[in-house]
Amino acid sequence: MMRNPKSSLNAGFRLPRAVFRALATVRKHPLVTVLYLTYACNLGCSFCVQRRSRDRRPKPNTDDIPIEAWSRIIEELAEPCLPRSRVHLTGGEPLLAEVFPRIVRLLWQRRVPWTMTTNGTLLESHAESIVQYCARNVSVSIHGPPQVDAQTARPKGTFARIRAGLEAVRRIRAIRKTRFPRITLNCVLGGHNYQIFDTLLDHLTSLEPDSITFQHPSEVIAGAAQEEIAKAVGRFMLNVSIKRGAVPVTFFPRVRLARLTQYYADPSSRFASTCSAPWFLLRVQPNGRVTPCGDNALGNVMRSSLHDLWYSEALSHFRRRLLRSGAQWKACHRCCHRAYG
Ligand code: SF4
Ligand code: SF4
Repeated sequence: MMRNPKSSLNAGFRLPRAVFRALATVRKHPLVTVLYLTYACNLGCSFCVQRRSRDRRPKPNTDDIPIEAWSRIIEELAEPCLPRSRVHLTGGEPLLAEVFPRIVRLLWQRRVPWTMTTNGTLLESHAESIVQYCARNVSVSIHGPPQVDAQTARPKGTFARIRAGLEAVRRIRAIRKTRFPRITLNCVLGGHNYQIFDTLLDHLTSLEPDSITFQHPSEVIAGAAQEEIAKAVGRFMLNVSIKRGAVPVTFFPRVRLARLTQYYADPSSRFASTCSAPWFLLRVQPNGRVTPCGDNALGNVMRSSLHDLWYSEALSHFRRRLLRSGAQWKACHRCCHRAYG
């Protein structure tokens, strides 16, 4: 059985930070580079954490970096390094980015392992290149059957378009006689789907993914309703662990059952915890800004190499602050790039 990539991440977050610190100092650049190809998205999910900040940004694409800048990043990441540098493509919706086809071709030509996250609605028309250029994993965001689309402000027909995209990927995989990309369904849990937890796993399994991730939300809201959702999530986690079907299922980030109410409904709870992400991961925004996370800009790929930013004083300073204070900033409260006690 193939592992769910998020279960590897859950395990990785629990490694001693010394492992990541040692790794960071011997690498030319990050182990994982997340490329946000665009902030544009053709959906407007009610729980989208990007939506509010996207609304504050200039209109999509006005300051996006050109393909030459993305190519320079990929050339850098293709340089020999052990373990090999990986790229994760995301957005917004990365399949809306004009540069997408050229980027995946280049990643394949330069043998850089890559994965992606998509809302799946444009997957059918890009399935051929995604399989041809050897994506390792495609994570498709889907939060339940069609009635959940309405509750999350997703347009009618979203579920059907995702299903068609998944079928196209499976069909082309079969024609090309390859197992890749593996398909992971990523389902955010919350008020939009907790009342259908009894059937949720069956709905998602019927789409024939290779693995399923149930993601805890990245926002914490106080109140009795949220406590009820946390309890339902706890029961759901137990039921899923008892069922253990053919498709590997992971809950992400890892939160203990006993702490679910705290996670979902107690904004004052900070979960004393560390974060190792800035020692193995950098993000490149559509305008070329590079950050370890949030708005902590280190510089811009239009002016600096990824290598220089990886060894910059700005990143060292950020890591020192994180070591001193722990993952306790507002952005850290329910960030999915760390473990929760
Ligand atoms: S598909 Fe993703 S980026 Fe687009 S609105 Fe929904 S959550 Fe946000
Ligand atoms: S927001 Fe906080 S927890 Fe998340 S990656 Fe950044 S430092 Fe780590």
